[in-house]
Amino acid sequence: MNEADSELIAASFLKRGFELTAELKAADAVVVNTCTVRQRAEDKAISQIGRLRVWKEKHPEGKLFIVGCAAQKLGGKYLKNRFPFVDEVVGAKSIDSMDEVVELSFGKGRGTHATRTIFNSPISAFVTIMRGCSLKCSYCIVPAVRGPAEFLPVETILEDAAARIKGGAKEIILLGQTVNAWRRGKTGFAGLLEKVAALPGLERLRFMSPHPLYFDADFFSVYGDNPKIARHMHLPAQSGSDKILKGMRRGYTRAQYLDLVSKIRKAAPGSAVSTDFIVGYPGETEADFRETLSMVGESGISFAYCFKYSKRLEEPGLAPDIGEPEIEERLERLLAEVKKNSGDILNERIGRIEEVLLESEDHGRTSANFVARLEQTDAGPRKPGSLVRMEITGVRKNTLRGKLIP
Ligand code: SAH
Ligand code: SF4
Repeated sequence: MNEADSELIAASFLKRGFELTAELKAADAVVVNTCTVRQRAEDKAISQIGRLRVWKEKHPEGKLFIVGCAAQKLGGKYLKNRFPFVDEVVGAKSIDSMDEVVELSFGKGRGTHATRTIFNSPISAFVTIMRGCSLKCSYCIVPAVRGPAEFLPVETILEDAAARIKGGAKEIILLGQTVNAWRRGKTGFAGLLEKVAALPGLERLRFMSPHPLYFDADFFSVYGDNPKIARHMHLPAQSGSDKILKGMRRGYTRAQYLDLVSKIRKAAPGSAVSTDFIVGYPGETEADFRETLSMVGESGISFAYCFKYSKRLEEPGLAPDIGEPEIEERLERLLAEVKKNSGDILNERIGRIEEVLLESEDHGRTSANFVARLEQTDAGPRKPGSLVRMEITGVRKNTLRGKLIP
């Protein structure tokens, strides 16, 4: 979400004739888009802001904006007090006002630069379809800093997606904290997927992150029938233990999660599922942790982001039971299991024919979201943004290798 927000903010500057620069010395403005989902992210943002003091002293006419989730949590008063050289603070809930803030600081600008993606490959574009979140997972600060769920209208989403395709995107990634909860009037998430997938010029449609609570029969039928929808889902599990899932208020059990993964694979064979896990949640015993470990192989997940639990909110009655060294050790064990499993899953792809959406002349992604690289000796059409067919011949460094086939 923050990456998508950063792109919107960048667009506000680009349309006023500014350019992006990686050189602090050359910058007229610096925007720090902060995250607070874990304490470490907030700490990093704070030290980054601290380091910008020198830039501001050397460029007193330059503008420094602090935006996003940590800005929302800490507040403008606190931040301006602690860092008096900051010009504006815009929290995540008012991120839409950044365009006005830029206009107030710099006026209408001087010409226009084409919008371009900063984080993703140029052929891929984020389209936000909902803001905020109305669930209440016990550990999560997102609803507090981004507010309750708000679903964008169909027309806005389609206009945004069409504009991104016109600008060169071949792949659209629909974004939201519970992206599949989206609905407006009679149109549910499945209907929205159909509408976006039908936009001329689109090769592939992804979405992130669906939540296990919001899958319905319509979704599976659209997913199964429409090959433009990528055969990959990032479906955060958080834990494999029913006790921990209950404490986290996730709303599903281990068995329900595993059943969902089977349904995804049944609807579209070959689908890859990746996930997020939190280790060291208060009350997590060795037995609970082993349930998470065993779920990696059982669900056949292709990849997982694994996080150490970070206390963000007051959770009554919950105190961490284990110390930092044990949490660290569990994280290492989980990462090793995920790595082993990912290797097995990549190897299973050898011999298959995959459609690869090229991001550069020699690499791209399969529908299941694996990076695939063309063999050096391969001649043939290699235009970024084109869909090519590749026979997978091997795996090297977490990447599929293969050759073009006609
Ligand atoms: N809306 C998404 C998750 C958004 S937050 C969902 O529910 O699936 C992204 C990830 O950050 C989460 O999946 C979780 O694994 C991690 N996370 C959130 N809060 C955390 C915390 N307090 N400590 C550690 N990890 C956390
Ligand atoms: Fe946080 Fe995701 Fe739970 Fe919403 S669904 S509270 S964003 S973890």
